[in-house]
Amino acid sequence: MAKTEKIIENIDRIVNNQTKIRNIAIAAHIDHGKTTLTDNLLASAGMISEDTAGKQCFMDFDKQEQERGITIYSANVSMIHNFNNEDYVINLIDTPGHVDFGGDVTRAMRAVDGCIILVDAVDGVMPQTETVVRQALKERVKPVLFINKVDRLIKELDLTPQKIQERIVKIIKDVNSLIKTASPEEFREKWLVNVNQGTFAFGSAYRNWALSLPFMKKTGTTFADIVEYTKQDKEKELSKKARISEVLLDMVISNLPNPKQAQEYRIKKIWNGDCQTNIGKSLVNSNPDGPFVGVITNTLYDAHAGVISTIRVFSGKIKEGLEIKNINKKINERIQQLGIYFGPRRIPLSSMVCGNIVAVSGLSNSSTGDTICSTDIEIEPFESIQHTFEPVVTKAIEAKSIKDLPKLIDILKQRGKEDPSIKINISEDTGETLVSGLGELHIEAKIERYIREKKLDIIVSKPIIIYKEGVLKPSVEIEGKTPNKHNRFIMKIEPISDEIINLLKSGELRQGKIRKQDLKDIAAKLREKGMDSDKAKKTVAIYDQNIFLNLTRGVVQLNEVIELLIQSFKEVCMEGPLAHEPLRGVCVEIIDAHLHEDAIHRGPAQVLPAVKTAIRQAIIDGGAILYEPKQILRIDAPIDYIGGIIKEIQNRRGQILDVAEDGDLNNITTKLPVAEMFGFEAGLKSATAGRGYQSLIDIVYEKVPRDIMDNIVKQIKKMKGIN
Ligand code: GDP
Repeated sequence: MAKTEKIIENIDRIVNNQTKIRNIAIAAHIDHGKTTLTDNLLASAGMISEDTAGKQCFMDFDKQEQERGITIYSANVSMIHNFNNEDYVINLIDTPGHVDFGGDVTRAMRAVDGCIILVDAVDGVMPQTETVVRQALKERVKPVLFINKVDRLIKELDLTPQKIQERIVKIIKDVNSLIKTASPEEFREKWLVNVNQGTFAFGSAYRNWALSLPFMKKTGTTFADIVEYTKQDKEKELSKKARISEVLLDMVISNLPNPKQAQEYRIKKIWNGDCQTNIGKSLVNSNPDGPFVGVITNTLYDAHAGVISTIRVFSGKIKEGLEIKNINKKINERIQQLGIYFGPRRIPLSSMVCGNIVAVSGLSNSSTGDTICSTDIEIEPFESIQHTFEPVVTKAIEAKSIKDLPKLIDILKQRGKEDPSIKINISEDTGETLVSGLGELHIEAKIERYIREKKLDIIVSKPIIIYKEGVLKPSVEIEGKTPNKHNRFIMKIEPISDEIINLLKSGELRQGKIRKQDLKDIAAKLREKGMDSDKAKKTVAIYDQNIFLNLTRGVVQLNEVIELLIQSFKEVCMEGPLAHEPLRGVCVEIIDAHLHEDAIHRGPAQVLPAVKTAIRQAIIDGGAILYEPKQILRIDAPIDYIGGIIKEIQNRRGQILDVAEDGDLNNITTKLPVAEMFGFEAGLKSATAGRGYQSLIDIVYEKVPRDIMDNIVKQIKKMKGIN
């Protein structure tokens, strides 16, 4: 206990000095040892005993995670490390290892400035390593590398020191080629990991030792030493000589930026506003005396404290009792308690300066991704957080007993808040609730199990695929008349090329109504991908992967209805004409309009139905089609099982894209319609005696074969109760 008090005192002192803070995450493939490493790093902060570290899974405090053995929730922990006689606070955000839960990773990355790329020495760089590292680099998070499980190379595989080094060099090369392709241009060379610079270490998280070149120089420990100690089962001694927390946290402190350094180049990328304004400067300089600005990167529900929000503070100070404005929700809320996490425990603090990651209670109506600030300023929100993957599966969840309905709705709303890649649709009248996620496992893990743990009896429907609607060809011009016959709108649609769809999907272009200052840049990007230059200049709004153009000329007063036109466009984008599924790849154009002079005759009740109907008719004329989601997966399994795996894929309309051999493993890249994937994980496990596993590489949408489309449309309509 005395130790804990000392830690609180220490932390309070250090967190107010930004040069003494590092915010980091671990980027790793599942099972490469992230949890084990976290435990051992935490042990050095005195929070768990060294003997149990590595066995007790400190970060995975959620019971459900323990059961599943994977980390589902991003949590964060803080620890103190002494380097060159100075104390530092390291805030470590936990990132989920399962790619099905991609949204959490981006969110965690936004909160940190540096990361440890962790790679298993036996497996090497895996698809999830790649995905997570790419996400980190995209958010301008600087990497260092740790190669784990080197004890296995020595003991199990009995490799010679020469062979061990070769393997290590190969992994460094793979990681560097990834950094080179995925880093922002200005960091491509600077961020490569380099043995001499000390941005690389190797060791064993399980056995609690590590080595880096600076550490070897400092202590005289050699490569031969570690081979010797490991072979002779003297790893406990080795861990005293070359303790993993010391080697890695030294590496983090000396190579990864403090928040002040990082915000200088990160704010430009992650914030939309003008960096030359006072607020902009305060963010770029991480100014503790500036106005308070922060971003909620995670929310969790705690039975005692209510909603716990994790906040990265980018400017000013955050304090107990502070009233804040939530820019996205347009509400004010008050911060109750403030603290930092040591695993599941929060240590209370009364205030903290920018550059820190804190946990607060009291923001019960705010969600992950929201920007919050002092009540007396106006500020652009931070970019809406981009997800690599969008939800593709929906399940309907019903309470068995009507009396449980309010509780169920509460839980669902809560979970939706905690994870933006889960979408919840609740009809308060019928009690029907639709939950959408990235996959069957995603919904099961994040929603169903959680509800059952709360002892609510529920009925869960079979999973339903989220289809999308699109068009085959340009339509003719369609006229939409307002109910009062006083206004006419001439609309047309055409398909958007795949190249432009990909641009829209990348999140590079801002969604919604195009702001004047962004138009030039957006038009240039659209032109670059092949859009007609005159048309690109006429872009007025973007919604999902759809574009709205204003091609009218000299229509006086069009500007007075433009907001209504954009709203109509947006509503049709959310519900297409075929089966009320979202649109994808449709360019909507307004060609001409005849408007009543008097604004009273062209209000929303007139304009919205006229324009929406015209757009929908144009889509039907353009040959409306349905797209279905397909997952591109990589499957790794021992060579002996390949026959069973291929059968499993072919039985599900799957396509094999590539088969590669990697030692005694096969890795198979496959494309599978999500509609055929239910139970796939179980099928794969049984086809490979549990030794095969899948990782999600991408989700793509492709046209549904014509011969099954009508049937699917019918099914969707029936499910949604559409006539
Ligand atoms: P995570 O999924 O990345 O969090 O991985 P875990 O930390 O849960 O580790 C996965 C498995 O690898 C566990 O069985 C660990 O005990 C084991 N493991 C982790 N680090 C090492 C290591 O350095 N050496 C060995 N031999 N096993 C390790």
